[in-house]
Amino acid sequence: MHTMSAKKNRRPKHKGSGTIFKNPILEQLTKTHIAIPLTLYTIISSCLIYYGIIEKGFTTPVMILLFFAGMFVFTLVEYLMHRYLYHPQTEKMEEFSHKVHGVHHDYPKDKKRLAMPPILALILASFFFIIYRAMMGDYVFGFLAGFLMGYTGYLAIHYSVHIFKVPGNFLKILWHHHAIHHYRQPDRAFGVSSPLWDYIFGTMPELLEDKKKQQAKAGEFIDPS
Ligand SMILES: [Zn+2]
Ligand SMILES: [Zn+2]
Repeated sequence: MHTMSAKKNRRPKHKGSGTIFKNPILEQLTKTHIAIPLTLYTIISSCLIYYGIIEKGFTTPVMILLFFAGMFVFTLVEYLMHRYLYHPQTEKMEEFSHKVHGVHHDYPKDKKRLAMPPILALILASFFFIIYRAMMGDYVFGFLAGFLMGYTGYLAIHYSVHIFKVPGNFLKILWHHHAIHHYRQPDRAFGVSSPLWDYIFGTMPELLEDKKKQQAKAGEFIDPS
């Protein structure tokens, strides 16, 4: 059985805040105003682009291409991390994932817990810098700038989806997709910035109709509601 089942039964609370650490200083460090990471990563990304063009001599079209490649790869990393790191299938990983992500499922509207602490994100970004640099050399500057802006975009979308009302335009699909992940099917709809990778890897939400058909096939009682 999927280990999320325990969490599935826990009702998300729309007021208050979860506890990650008992130590009040550590606990405080896990709370971030959303404007801080958004500003910080935009500045770092701009510096990377500046450095790539001025110091490394890349042309603007090449930088734009690298930027969008980085952004695209970020959406895949976002999907894989959410699916396998934050919703793991093993008991061992469960404790860790509850600390970093379960608390968001328990308190989805806690504004200060909608971004990981910037210090942690900077350590992760340095780690990605080292890996990408080894893989692609100086192309890393444009690529990581896009990757970081992908993350910034993801943060802005995730924040908006939880805090702001559903918009009346095409963006509403993002609101619905993430609401399904939180309130109906936590083992589906892992993509936040887009449903693309859910579509590719077959984790799109199950439609109610399909679910009923499946249950009927399995001979289960169908709730008429
Ligand atoms: Zn989740
Ligand atoms: Zn969420």
